[in-house]
Amino acid sequence: MEPSTYTQGIVQEACRRFGNDAHRMMDILWEVQDRLGCIDGQAMECIAAETGSYRVEVEGVVTFYAFFATTPQGQFIIRICEDIIDRHAGVEEIRAAFEKTLGIAVGQTTNDGLFSLHLTPCIGMCDQAPAVLINDLVVTGLTPGKVSKIVSTLKKSRNLNDIKPQSKGGLFKPGEGNNQHPLIRSMVKNNIRLAGEILLNTYSPEAGLAGALQQTPAEVVEMILASGLRGRGGAGFSTGRKWQMAAATEAEERYVICNADEGEPGTFKDRVLLTEKADLLFEGMTIAAYAVGARHGILYLRGEYRYLRPYLEHCLEERRKKGLLGANIGKTVGGQYDGEFDIRIQIGAGAYICGEESSLISSCEGRRGEPKNRPPYPVQSGYLGYPTVVNNVETLCNVPRILEKGISWFRSIGTSESAGTKLHSVSGDCSRPGIYELPMGCTVQELLDLAGAKDSACVQVGGASGDMIGRTEFGRRLCFEDLPTAGAFMSFTQTRNILEIVDYYMHFFIEESCGYCTPCRVGNVFMKKGLEKIIQGQGEPSDLEYLKDLGKTIIETSRCGLGHTSPKPILTSMKHFPLVYAALLKERPDGLQAGFNIQHALDESRIIAKRRSLIYDPDYSKSEKAD
Ligand code: SF4
Repeated sequence: MEPSTYTQGIVQEACRRFGNDAHRMMDILWEVQDRLGCIDGQAMECIAAETGSYRVEVEGVVTFYAFFATTPQGQFIIRICEDIIDRHAGVEEIRAAFEKTLGIAVGQTTNDGLFSLHLTPCIGMCDQAPAVLINDLVVTGLTPGKVSKIVSTLKKSRNLNDIKPQSKGGLFKPGEGNNQHPLIRSMVKNNIRLAGEILLNTYSPEAGLAGALQQTPAEVVEMILASGLRGRGGAGFSTGRKWQMAAATEAEERYVICNADEGEPGTFKDRVLLTEKADLLFEGMTIAAYAVGARHGILYLRGEYRYLRPYLEHCLEERRKKGLLGANIGKTVGGQYDGEFDIRIQIGAGAYICGEESSLISSCEGRRGEPKNRPPYPVQSGYLGYPTVVNNVETLCNVPRILEKGISWFRSIGTSESAGTKLHSVSGDCSRPGIYELPMGCTVQELLDLAGAKDSACVQVGGASGDMIGRTEFGRRLCFEDLPTAGAFMSFTQTRNILEIVDYYMHFFIEESCGYCTPCRVGNVFMKKGLEKIIQGQGEPSDLEYLKDLGKTIIETSRCGLGHTSPKPILTSMKHFPLVYAALLKERPDGLQAGFNIQHALDESRIIAKRRSLIYDPDYSKSEKAD
């Protein structure tokens, strides 16, 4: 069918705004969807024609991202965060309240075209769960009562502003959320519980940039190298080394990309940095650009944080006005440098895999967010084939501080192999969830004590792709040489079902796998099936060996970081909670016939495991609440 004139007009306008450039496909799709409500076949045909692409290419991108829709959606798209923390905080009741009030099930749209209801993985609000996204608006600390108020308000006014905090007479009053800037129209709280010396404390704006511009780019790279700064996204690669490699690659252009796609369940510290320290971040990106010789920067902001865009654009505009971005950036801070650098914001669209740097680059290029083969590495051939440095938000925020205060100061904090501080996003069973900035090397127990997690029996360190550890490991140190973490820290008491948590994470990885390689696409499904067999009381000791072998194979043969870490929820929980698994087996493994009170241990494990068959049992949520 020929596209309607209306669709054609909208698409042409969106494509023109981005130079009819297929590499700006993500921006084009967002704009088309915002205006048409979805990106249907007609819109895809038009976009393909306008950008010189094939329709199948456009469709490939649209269908890759969870936040793009090919069928009409409601005026208000409600996405309920179904992460494990939200489940423990009663998200089933929130879901039931939405379904009842709207008269639709998850996945459906109301007949009047007003509401669509979806589930979504972690939206970065674990410290204030349960939370939902309504279009770009984040609503936190939900109760069933608030759900019905939100729905009735929107039904009446059809205006999202009526539930934003700043609106006069709005449902959420000013002060209920984080209203530090009028452009952040949301009720998200930053919950900074402990500000450390480097990131969350006061600093001298632009002192780091001024210090950098008094040195040669090579000296700046050398300084970052000598500081021992390592990537805060989890892998811990040397930031200076990354910059050195990008700078050493012959090229006409180079790019600096900030990875603000923190999709790891349980992580929300970058969201806080973006809100509290946006200028520090942009200063860090500018120093990185100077060091490697880049004229262009991209902030890749996850779709779940789209509510921050107006504020971040405002910060960028202010920096342009001050001469801190654009041409001659050196002049403003008293340097000789007359180079140029600017930053654009690229919004993601709900794909965990885009946190992986090569997938993120694919997404910035307007493609499906699929990982690329390496080598070449992004520092050699990244965005559009140019050398590209991809650094995490937290990593880049460290850079101006190192330039401002020096290498020795930075290295005096933390441990020998993990210099500096680390931001921890603490959530789960504790009385003070939120953000903690601590020197690298603090112990798990120290953080639990600070967060008021008195009866923690289990901590998920580093999110779904991290390690699940028990009490005997709480003396371990959070740093690269012991227990590395990207920043998620979820505490669970003995009342929680450990295998429910593990099962949810396997479900998460299956959903988020891009499907490119078989070990990850198929292997994780088999891992989950094996786990379910054990949960259902049908497992045998040989199943444990099977899971270990299969997990090892997935880790060794997968193409990217998702596959390299996806078996970890099962493998680390099997390692640290063997009795939880043993308690559910039909026969006990030989190794557990040892001379200690195994019956007692098994009874305890049964309490932890709750010996139930399915994790999505609503009755279980009720019993758990009553505990
Ligand atoms: Fe895709 Fe998984 Fe393979 Fe990574 S490991 S490329 S996410 S299928």
